[in-house]
Amino acid sequence: MKVGILAVQGDFEAHGQMLSRLGVEHIFVRTLAGLANLEGLVLPGGESSTHLKFLTEGGLLDAIRELARRGGALFGTCAGAILLAREVKNPPQTSLGLADISVARNAYGRQVASQVLWGPSKLKEAPLEMVFIRAPLIERVGSGVEVLAESEGRPVLVRQDKVLAATFHPELTEDATVHEYFLQMCASGSRGVQTAESTKAMRSS
Ligand code: GLN
Repeated sequence: MKVGILAVQGDFEAHGQMLSRLGVEHIFVRTLAGLANLEGLVLPGGESSTHLKFLTEGGLLDAIRELARRGGALFGTCAGAILLAREVKNPPQTSLGLADISVARNAYGRQVASQVLWGPSKLKEAPLEMVFIRAPLIERVGSGVEVLAESEGRPVLVRQDKVLAATFHPELTEDATVHEYFLQMCASGSRGVQTAESTKAMRSS
């Protein structure tokens, strides 16, 4: 399995370290050629407008949509989640539109003093550690989108088919749960892994 990490700016190295820890082959993607033969692509945190400019100028936007069409898994954290959203506000911005969610940028968590919260998820029994840095707020979740984790009653980790979006930064914690979940999505068929078992965990927490 080969996973790419968009490496324009931001915390792509942290995702690389997490994937190394999990023993997964990965490459840093900066060109169209880098997107070839990937099972999955990580869109890291950083400044989404900078990432968007790079992707637009390099012709990578359509190539990423094509990767999703042919069954590749996508995982966006924070700025990456903004790029995946169907609608972006505050200020409005173009996006890949691969997850049917609306997000408002820069909603909570300051740049210098990031906000750490713990919230329930469908991925494990114990609360998940969530680091927010000038995070977007998911204001609307479409009917085909599953909420996998919440913080203070707000959706913060969502999935639509093989697209996973987190408004927080699991790559900045020691907990590999979210990355492990993404890797299962990369390895699975078009609909991906089931979460019925873990749904109970979230309901009962
Ligand atoms: N505030 C950034 C944006 O709007 C996202 C911040 C982050 O990725 N930590 O693009």
